[in-house]
Amino acid sequence: MNSHLRICIVGAGFSGAVIARELAEKGYSLLVIDERDHIAGNCHTERDSETGVMVHKYGPHIFHTGDETVWSYINRFGEMMPYVNRVKATVKGKVYSLPINLHTINQFFDKAMSPDEARAFIAEQARTDIEDPQSFEEQGMKFVGDQLYKAFFDGYTRKQWGVEPSSLPASILKRLPVRFNYDDNYFNHPYQGMPKDGYSKIVEGILSHEKIELRLGCSFEELEETFDHIFYSGPLDRYFRYDIGRLSYRTLDFEPIRADGDFQGTAVMNYPDPEVPFTRISEHKHFAPWEAESFEKTIAFKEFSRSCGANDIPYYPIRRLDDQQLLTTYEERAANETGVTFVGRLGTYQYLDMDVTIGRALAVAKTFLNGR
Ligand code: UDP
Repeated sequence: MNSHLRICIVGAGFSGAVIARELAEKGYSLLVIDERDHIAGNCHTERDSETGVMVHKYGPHIFHTGDETVWSYINRFGEMMPYVNRVKATVKGKVYSLPINLHTINQFFDKAMSPDEARAFIAEQARTDIEDPQSFEEQGMKFVGDQLYKAFFDGYTRKQWGVEPSSLPASILKRLPVRFNYDDNYFNHPYQGMPKDGYSKIVEGILSHEKIELRLGCSFEELEETFDHIFYSGPLDRYFRYDIGRLSYRTLDFEPIRADGDFQGTAVMNYPDPEVPFTRISEHKHFAPWEAESFEKTIAFKEFSRSCGANDIPYYPIRRLDDQQLLTTYEERAANETGVTFVGRLGTYQYLDMDVTIGRALAVAKTFLNGR
């Protein structure tokens, strides 16, 4: 084994931390760098000093997975508390249940249909001529029809992504289930939960190994040492200094709302109406139901999405259908870059959830170790 190799991991989010840990446990020494002053990337959590509430600094993160290995992995590094994400939406002054389920359909059409009746009713509105939906819009029209699509998806998606829904891939909408029963669990996965002490504590646990050196406030560009191998979880186009152009990302702005008691009575309220400038309001104490009652005050955040500029934090890779050529070129270059493995949401420019990120990081570490 070449455990004397000098290995650097760029980014101390889930991807970087998991790979570092896997390699450290096999005897490798690693340097993990992150340009921010904290670990855990966009999953970072910290307690708000005024309320005591555990705040998801870069927006809500709910852990859910169907992968037992990933579930046991995360549970090794911190206690996961029971949490089921139940999202609501305010549309034209009325509150609905999400994801679209029998309750939403009955509320929206002011009916009391059975599952079969609702299925037939929606089938009548759905666009049956679309066989294999390519875009977000086609996916919506095929599965819920014009009225529900307009009310719940069109406005929200335009605000969230800043582009025509017809130019977004169908995969974004495939994240959300449509159900003909009253199950309002936002996710279909068998495992779901929230870390008792926050995500940063979990990442801290993953990174705490004698073979791992962590350097915060250090960007990849300013690194002077050379390495035998680099695992890079920064933005893919940034690695190549954007020399053939920029991939599009969305960034988020959060406007805090402070109040006494309970602000909205639930963790996430979406606002799909196009007239409302934000996409959703998250009230963070409700992400921790086991302690929510103990806080006298509350903090919630209005979430605004906008195009990501040069000095902004990228959150979501847009993956516009017409950006495909630029992405393919970067991907080919990444694949040919010797001594570097690109990982994570930004490094692979993919809309990855935390569980998939961890699963892929475990696989990347395994491939690396098997190749030595
Ligand atoms: N979406 C929507 N209306 C909603 C919720 C979601 O149109 O009320 C669309 C939107 O395009 C969003 C995508 O579905 O980006 C995925 O939603 P999810 O809740 O998974 O987004 P995340 O929490 O990852 O931002």
